Amino acid sequence: NKFITIKRHIEGAPQESDFELKTESISLSVQAGSNDVIVKTFYLSIDPYQLNRMKSYSSSQKAHSFAVGIIPGEAIDAFGLGRVVASGHPGFEKDDLVAGVITWGQYSVIKGAVMLNKLDTMGFPLSYHVGIFGTSGLTAYGGFFQVCKPKKGEKVFVSAASGSVGNLVGQYAKLFGCYVVGCAGTKQKVKLLKEKLGFDDAFNYKEETDLKSTLKRYFPDGIDIYFDNVGGDLLEAAVFNMNTFGRVAVCGVISEYIDAAKRAAPDMLDVIYKRITIQGFLAADQMNVYADFLSTTADHLRNGKMEVLEDISHGMESIPTAFMALFSGDNIGKKIVQIAAD
Ligand code: NDP
Repeated sequence: NKFITIKRHIEGAPQESDFELKTESISLSVQAGSNDVIVKTFYLSIDPYQLNRMKSYSSSQKAHSFAVGIIPGEAIDAFGLGRVVASGHPGFEKDDLVAGVITWGQYSVIKGAVMLNKLDTMGFPLSYHVGIFGTSGLTAYGGFFQVCKPKKGEKVFVSAASGSVGNLVGQYAKLFGCYVVGCAGTKQKVKLLKEKLGFDDAFNYKEETDLKSTLKRYFPDGIDIYFDNVGGDLLEAAVFNMNTFGRVAVCGVISEYIDAAKRAAPDMLDVIYKRITIQGFLAADQMNVYADFLSTTADHLRNGKMEVLEDISHGMESIPTAFMALFSGDNIGKKIVQIAAD
């Protein structure tokens, strides 16, 4: 079995030299009654939060219960999907398609089949199930509808808007009837947001020098909802431009993942006087709308109302580059690595 691991804990932006490809010999059979399942990986979801798990927790970073630290040299667990090659668990049989927490490896031995589910493709391509129907989709749907609590016609700002979660937030918001502006880090991404994904407007935040006045330009009447994927200066500028009773959904603060010293400091007096709600949330909190999310999203796709934005790399060796792309902005849409074909 080949798998990717980290050589050491990572501080700052991840580098190719932080990773290594390891080979181990594993048995592809399980003992009857063991409850273990062995999965052959087809697709892996590449996610920014993994960087926080790769840091050394003896540093100023605090370990969070949802993000148990990754141990250098060991397999890295991650969301993905594949096929069962052997099962000692009564809920799974050889050849079942499954999705859940597997590893950055060709094969994963899932003890007790924990966090593994049978996959119903609903007739959609397999890769959709690590992106739009996976954690990214649920995060966008639950975060937008349950945390942002939108009303039709409200003005929505989304950062990292061409990314996996961001592009879906923008699409759900438009379909719901909001006015949506996104920001992204290249001209090509801005064009895509406006011309393909139906955003009302978009801008390249890297071309702006004063984000507070930039947002004032795009939202002369203020922002009602900010879906934050980035943190840092964008969060501060958005809070500055929020309307009374505005909502900020803090989904992620990717600009702060590579710089432990950097933390957004929005003006808290603004938060008080404008009665702004700032709420962090996790995809895991959104399971109460999971069935609704799947059926609504499937309907939108079947009716041609949503676009699927995927950025797929191939092969185990491409995992480090695919992961680094999230922090340099080299991905467009959901970053996925295909390890094997079905
Ligand atoms: P994306 O597909 O959006 O990829 C990351 C993008 O972030 C990059 O493409 C880049 O786009 C942007 N970015 C990177 N560094 C910076 C920076 N310093 N400043 C501004 N933008 C930057 O990733 P995901 O959609 O998977 O994740 C988006 C966010 O949501 C992350 O913060 C992630 O941790 C969080 N998340 C949270 C979940 C939850 O349960 N709360 C679940 C899933 C994701 P650009 O060209 O715009 O710079």
